[in-house]
Amino acid sequence: MTRYDLHCHSTCSDGLLSPADVVRRAAANGVDVIALTDHDQLAGLDEAREAALDAEITFIDGAELSVTWENETVHVVALAIDPANEALIEGLAAVRGSRDQRARRIGESLAAAGVPDAFEGARAHAMSDQLISRTHFARHLVDSGQVRDMQDAFRRFLTKGKPGYVAHAWPTLGEAVGWIHGAGGRAVIAHPGRYKLTTAGMRRLLAEFRDLGGDAIEVVSPSHTAAQSADFVASARVFGFKASSGSDWHGPGESRWELGQLPPMPDTVDPVWADW
Ligand code: AMP
Ligand code: MN
Ligand code: MN
Ligand code: MN
Repeated sequence: MTRYDLHCHSTCSDGLLSPADVVRRAAANGVDVIALTDHDQLAGLDEAREAALDAEITFIDGAELSVTWENETVHVVALAIDPANEALIEGLAAVRGSRDQRARRIGESLAAAGVPDAFEGARAHAMSDQLISRTHFARHLVDSGQVRDMQDAFRRFLTKGKPGYVAHAWPTLGEAVGWIHGAGGRAVIAHPGRYKLTTAGMRRLLAEFRDLGGDAIEVVSPSHTAAQSADFVASARVFGFKASSGSDWHGPGESRWELGQLPPMPDTVDPVWADW
């Protein structure tokens, strides 16, 4: 059976391995089809595509777009996009510009809470000032001995209500879906089980996504319990979405599931790759 992993990260966003190393690891793990989906970033795709050619596995151009929906941050995975699409390139460049400002504000807010030099620390972990993520702040807090581990860093400093969380306006769901479709891609709601939404809120999100022409939702994800996966299979059927599957892998020792080592997609939904 063909093995897919349609969600993972490299050093071009908040992953720990280069795009080529991510692809080589996927191939070594028996993956047949890999999508690299760096946050708000396309820079790793050329390198990853070349590595996939060498490793003789299929490569899907992807990204994971940050969106603000009803005050909640929602991630939308883009699959099979044209990475040369101008509107997508420009849209994501603007998002990265806003990430730089946000990272500085996170640093200031942490300093005010008695954690100095966190911006510089996070920046040292990131490939570019334009792609500093909370993950880089978390790695800095771990390295400098201020927290026990990544979970501790997020829990104590980086989630809503904590000093290292600053409100940020990401693009709208409509903008993200528009860029993805404009670039010929498929729009997928990432790890829906992670959002702090009521049942009615989740229904509104999925209904709006469907009305915008959204294509799929992630069903198989390390963010989901088996019960949540089953719930999202049901949602996919109700809303007419295809289903996706991805490890959301960030690096050795940092992720619940190894790259490409995913439970099977339930056969009661159409996979997003059905017509690839
Ligand atoms: P950002 O896009 O800068 O807000 O960073 C979000 C990233 O932080 C996600 O893509 C995850 O990689 C990571 N993240 C969020 N919450 C947690 C958590 N509780 N534990 C570990 N990593 C997390
Ligand atoms: Mn991430
Ligand atoms: Mn995500
Ligand atoms: Mn991700």
